[in-house]
Amino acid sequence: MTTNADLLSRRQVAVVRGVGHTTPLSASRARNAELWDVEGKRYVDFAGGIAVVNTGHCHPKIIAAVQEQMIRFTHTCFQVVMYEPYIALAERLNAMAPIPGPLKSVFFTTGAEATENAVKIARAATGRTGVIAFTGGFHGRTIMASALTGKVVPYKKGLGPAMPEVWHVPFPTVQNGVSPEDALKYLDFIFKADADPSRIAAIIIEPVQGEGGFHQVPSVLMRALRRVCDEHGIVLIADEVQTGFGRTGKMFAMEHYDVGPDLICVAKSLAGGFPLSGVIGKAPIMDAADPGGLGGTYAGNPLACAAALAVLDVFEEERLLDRAEVIGQRLRTRLERVQGRNDLLPIADVRGPGAMVAFDIVKDSVSGEPDAAATKRVVQRAYESGLILLSCGTNANTIRILVPLTAEDAIVDEGLEILEQALAA
Ligand code: PMP
Repeated sequence: MTTNADLLSRRQVAVVRGVGHTTPLSASRARNAELWDVEGKRYVDFAGGIAVVNTGHCHPKIIAAVQEQMIRFTHTCFQVVMYEPYIALAERLNAMAPIPGPLKSVFFTTGAEATENAVKIARAATGRTGVIAFTGGFHGRTIMASALTGKVVPYKKGLGPAMPEVWHVPFPTVQNGVSPEDALKYLDFIFKADADPSRIAAIIIEPVQGEGGFHQVPSVLMRALRRVCDEHGIVLIADEVQTGFGRTGKMFAMEHYDVGPDLICVAKSLAGGFPLSGVIGKAPIMDAADPGGLGGTYAGNPLACAAALAVLDVFEEERLLDRAEVIGQRLRTRLERVQGRNDLLPIADVRGPGAMVAFDIVKDSVSGEPDAAATKRVVQRAYESGLILLSCGTNANTIRILVPLTAEDAIVDEGLEILEQALAA
């Protein structure tokens, strides 16, 4: 039998160090919110491949849609010979996205390509170059996307120079002591000290920071960003790569606000485990780039587009937005009980909209000092006891839960039980 240890040691010889790993496990199969390793051990999956399988591993309808597409053709390159699943998916997303006016879409493969291309589109539309992003934000690992990402270690250190003309505004959280008013003041400082607003093509923001720790943008800030963008002709980009597709109880997290963005980046759970990303946005902005300026050989692959169309059907048929609220409530109720116990590690700030739930592990509840070492131990104890769990956050002390929205209550409770045991003091 192949063991996890065998594969880990082969990996260490054959695969680069730069690709990290949360667990030392290798998968053999997975179904809905359960996963089995190569030794046959079963796990509850609270990671969902980092927010990719909101519809569960191997949803039968999604697999069937991909199989049906696969026996017809797997690739033509959309730029050479078009196909209906790409066009149909664009039509459906254009009809759904919370952006006013006629919309258009374009598809790629990874989240980083979506954010890069959103910036390219904004540059083409405005004739400007500068971009404003936020500290703690994550937008991908390509050179442009990592320039947008607001965290140096491990995403930028030793990998520069970054793209020029990207400035970061402090993202407001209680933990970092930055208020929405502070953030806006800082934006104004950038406009005065570094770049006139007439040089700024885009402001990019995650409505709920994913890797940064599941912190939601306060409404007052989102409204102010919309106002600033309107005043100065700047394109507002919502990076919904992690929030997208029902995680927050709405199809798009921007539906929690009374203002809309100009462009939305999507990826991850859009295609239920098949590589697909996209940018959806106002048609005049989206059409600014000339033919050939956007695209890619595999961009909008037909198998992934077929999967995405099935994902949208599954969301409707199984009422997964309602389910996100129910799961989120179940997680928050249990975690708030954990927060009140003194026989477990101190946890703080159970948060997040819908089923995008996270909490912090702290040294003590009075100081609230982050405890990254304890957080690492909790993730390890969890997988040793059969739960795949992810941490995140600028202080590496946040536990985030990304259980599939198709998970049964019993599986959610089983995962929470293991999590509670892993939090033993
Ligand atoms: N944006 C956000 C908000 C993300 O969470 C991620 C991935 N964690 C990305 C962009 C990059 O996506 P990918 O890893 O598919 O390039």
